[in-house]
Amino acid sequence: MSNVGEAVAANLNRVHQRIAEAATGAGRGLGDISLVAVSKMQPIERVEAVLDAGQRIFGENRVQEAIARWTPLRPRYPDLRLHLIGPLQSNKVRDAVGFFDVIESLDRERLARRLAATMEETGRRVPCLIQVNTGEEPQKAGVAPAELADFVGFCRTEIGLEITGLMCIPPVDENPAPHFALLADAARRHGLAHVSMGMSEDFETAVRFGATHVRVGSAIFGDREMA
Ligand SMILES: *Cc1c(COP(=O)(O)O)cnc(C)c1O
Repeated sequence: MSNVGEAVAANLNRVHQRIAEAATGAGRGLGDISLVAVSKMQPIERVEAVLDAGQRIFGENRVQEAIARWTPLRPRYPDLRLHLIGPLQSNKVRDAVGFFDVIESLDRERLARRLAATMEETGRRVPCLIQVNTGEEPQKAGVAPAELADFVGFCRTEIGLEITGLMCIPPVDENPAPHFALLADAARRHGLAHVSMGMSEDFETAVRFGATHVRVGSAIFGDREMA
């Protein structure tokens, strides 16, 4: 393996270790915590090193880039699981539904309707997480916490989407803990099993607050390449 490959595999091990330590400290088992390796804008050799090390769940934030990258790799890894973690435009819904195993960035009613219609039409049902704008930042995607109950109800009962959890990206300049607490609490109240939160800088905190999915990019792969 190349030096880069070795370094990335060591990073992956270290992240697993840190997740395990945080889980133990919080009295949680490891069984319900999944690591989503965020491979967006990473060179292919680093991604292959992480695949070689056994990682199978990956997060991507752009539909077209993800399809281009993963279509040739997929046949070699039948147990691969690809999560869409970035904003989904309406005109990419068909591609996203055909390609991803989980959509973590459901953030508005129009998108929910499109997703439901496309799943109905294609017969492919993709579980979705609702992105919550816990910091109520105007520039950030996500459903406002106050609107979440209505939105969950709408998605589940009016249009029949399979909603499995919630996702958030806390404001960059704030302590993430209250945001993680809010998200985990909302998931519990709505009976949603999955809580996707925590990135390279704060995934241990997220684990302490009940994350079932942490989305870690640079702590595994190193700095991203420019788009
Ligand atoms: C890029 C990204 C991540 C990973 O960020 P790192 O800081 O590199 O771990 C996680 N979640 C989302 C939604 C992202 O866009």
